[in-house]
Amino acid sequence: SAMLYLVPTPIGNLSDISERCREVLAQADFIAAEDTRVTLRLLNHLELKKPLVSYYEHNKAASGPRIVERILAGETCALVSDAGSPAISDPGEDLVRLCAEAGVTVSAIPGPCAAITALSMSGLPTGRFTFEGFLSTTKKNRAQHLDSLRAEQRTMIFYEAPHKLCATLRDLAAAFGGERRISLCRELTKLHEEVLRLTLDGAVAYYETQPPRGEYVLIVEGAPKQQESGPVSEEEALMRVQALLA
Ligand code: SAM
Repeated sequence: SAMLYLVPTPIGNLSDISERCREVLAQADFIAAEDTRVTLRLLNHLELKKPLVSYYEHNKAASGPRIVERILAGETCALVSDAGSPAISDPGEDLVRLCAEAGVTVSAIPGPCAAITALSMSGLPTGRFTFEGFLSTTKKNRAQHLDSLRAEQRTMIFYEAPHKLCATLRDLAAAFGGERRISLCRELTKLHEEVLRLTLDGAVAYYETQPPRGEYVLIVEGAPKQQESGPVSEEEALMRVQALLA
């Protein structure tokens, strides 16, 4: 029956499109795309021809309900974003909610996601992590966001555009201290893929001479665990026991 498929697309290397993504794109009645030109290039690569509708940040309020209507009328839609997994830091999130509210079945195909690709090669702890997406560009929201992360012990994942990288590194160093470790993962799956494992101060210094280029995911180490208190004096131990017995 009619439904919405979330179809992940390559974040650089076109060979990362999966067999299943091909099949779903080939079988869909239409494709909703963030930038139809970007998606046309992918469809040409796959030798597929499909009706495209645009669904992106600035038309999603009007486009979303039209897509849901078509699905309710019996058509199956494949949603793709410019790169990576739809709904992860892109407007797909809203279409999924609309579909859920309308009782439309949503199925996500697993595939490329810059955040997870970067985390797995960061060398930082992966057992517990938080995805923070893009930091706000408005000063107040950005400060609030960073403030809320000061005591965060889990590894943090950020997305950032190259022209904002230097400012963001400075803000991260100010919030977390310059000694905190960061893995800068750039141009993932592309020719110039690179991971720089530095401290926040080191990263600030590095990009003072080297203009940032390409796409970046920033993986930032969490705050150190609360230190176990060291050995206490006999006097202090006695006081603690007395306090417990009181
Ligand atoms: N939905 C996408 C996903 O699943 O990864 C993310 C969309 S978000 C609008 C775009 C951001 O993802 C970029 O600003 C960058 O931080 C990150 N990104 C996407 N492709 C990347 C790549 N090849 N290398 C590094 N970062 C990438």
